[in-house]
Amino acid sequence: MNPELFAPFLTSGVTRRAYESGQVEVHLWNPRDFAEGNYKRVDDRPFGGGPGMVMMAVPLAQCLAAIKAQRQGPAPVVLFSPVGDRLDHAGVERWSASQGAVLICGRYEGIDQRFIDRHVDVQVSLGDFVLSGGEIAAMALLDAVARLQPGVLGDDDSSQFDSFNPALDGLLDCPHYTRPEEWEGLKAPPELLSGHHKQIERWRRDRRLEITARRRPDLIERARAQGRLGPADEALLAKLA
Ligand code: SAH
Repeated sequence: MNPELFAPFLTSGVTRRAYESGQVEVHLWNPRDFAEGNYKRVDDRPFGGGPGMVMMAVPLAQCLAAIKAQRQGPAPVVLFSPVGDRLDHAGVERWSASQGAVLICGRYEGIDQRFIDRHVDVQVSLGDFVLSGGEIAAMALLDAVARLQPGVLGDDDSSQFDSFNPALDGLLDCPHYTRPEEWEGLKAPPELLSGHHKQIERWRRDRRLEITARRRPDLIERARAQGRLGPADEALLAKLA
């Protein structure tokens, strides 16, 4: 991985607090420091020919050995790859509750398969598209983990109100509005200006259900299967159908 890419990410934004307070610790390692020779090569031509370069097993294995020698306790070795299991909120919660991991960021065409077979415990993908390096994937996971740490977001536990959170039954988030009350002829929803807590909550719940039913019916099905939808929820959903 290229450690320089991480600097701006670790020192800006709300998640900075998680790194400063030590709730999330990040140690950066560069496989190049473990490469032999004047050129410090970490990649080479693929056997069998074809375009691009492949990251060599030897410097990666030496880098990993150095990491393991410094870490207390075992840590799963994660490789970011399009081949991996798609990351989702449940995955982020599991990583967030874990004692950490070694995150490996690929470059070029990828990594010598023998290193993966020998050392990688789990492969994680951000989605069905291809990045040019695993660093952005690692930052995405770290950011999602950092914002789940207590006190990192301004309001305590405000991540509970976000999309996919089990606290709101795994539904998508509702729309948000702020001042002015009217903008270019568009009024903010009167329910949100009513000051009635119950009415506001119902309005937000209905919008969450509506958006989720339209965009991610699978999440409605899951909430229903888990017994998380009440009679008022089902009444709203029946109206949509
Ligand atoms: N040849 C590979 C892509 C290599 S891209 C393939 O076709 O599957 C270079 C590196 O970027 C990968 O080793 C991986 O670490 C990272 N990467 C690319 N796409 C990714 C994704 N969707 N999720 C996570 N990491 C990804």
